Amino acid sequence: MSILVVGSAALDTIKTPYGEVHDTLGGSAIFFSAAASFFTPVKIVAVVGDDFPLTQLDFLKKRGVDTDGLEIAKGKTFRWSGVYHVDMNQRDTLSTDLNVFETFSPKLPANYRDTPYLFLANIHPALQLEVLSQMTKPRLVMLDTMNLWISTALPDLKKVMAKVDAIILNDQEARQITGETNLIKAAKGVSQLGPKIVIVKKGEHGAFMVSGDSFFAVPAYPLESLYDPTGAGDSFAGGLFGYLTSCKDHSLGTMRKAMVYGSVVASYAVEQFSVERLRSLTMNDVETRYGSFKDITGF
Ligand code: AMP
Repeated sequence: MSILVVGSAALDTIKTPYGEVHDTLGGSAIFFSAAASFFTPVKIVAVVGDDFPLTQLDFLKKRGVDTDGLEIAKGKTFRWSGVYHVDMNQRDTLSTDLNVFETFSPKLPANYRDTPYLFLANIHPALQLEVLSQMTKPRLVMLDTMNLWISTALPDLKKVMAKVDAIILNDQEARQITGETNLIKAAKGVSQLGPKIVIVKKGEHGAFMVSGDSFFAVPAYPLESLYDPTGAGDSFAGGLFGYLTSCKDHSLGTMRKAMVYGSVVASYAVEQFSVERLRSLTMNDVETRYGSFKDITGF
């Protein structure tokens, strides 16, 4: 079964306490595809400018990512720049240059419309709605968003939330949407807006999932060297949704394993800048760390 992901493709400039990189490969759809493609075929819909180094995507193609839906528009690629604090759970966005993203209107190729699994990565919720309206009848739709859209496009975001099965968001976003301080209550409040499954990420403190009366928590892998948290959330989502898609059932047991696979892939993603660690990662590495997760959480 394959996944369609619609999101951003970017050139990122990032500064962390361990160094900085300029115009490096990034974007929500890129990190997601790099992670999900370990488990399942992925089709990507995004836009880049004519300055984009397309050969940088060769590693994704080799892993079965279909890039036919990547639009190459006249102009500059979307650029994002951020700086991380010593506490790398904290970051400031320095600049967001939309460039070709400003006029992006996602058009799904005909053979993409009946893809059974849809991941709406972080883009403007109005665009996420456009994508949903072009899909035939997806079996499972998962949504991601960010604080920017909660502040500037909440009515559209609520329309999307009413139509999806699952949402992945971070602790601050869950609180921002609901106005609720307690995170469990916030997650349940998010669920009341539509998604039956709510997954809340807490950076280096792991993630939890609420679905009806069920609750599951997973820690972040205890890493001693963390270089660049950019894309950790998208890699977590890619590992999680990729694994889920590769399974026949979507029971809560499968969802729990998917949460662990998401955490495994995200923990690798932050070990190097940009997508570098995901480029060299193997399925063997993924399974080894999945085993370590059993050790560190079993009692
Ligand atoms: P994350 O660290 O999971 O929040 O994802 C970081 C990625 O999101 C970076 O590679 C950015 O290029 C991308 N990004 C940042 N701002 C936006 C935005 N407004 N819309 C879409 N993607 C964005």
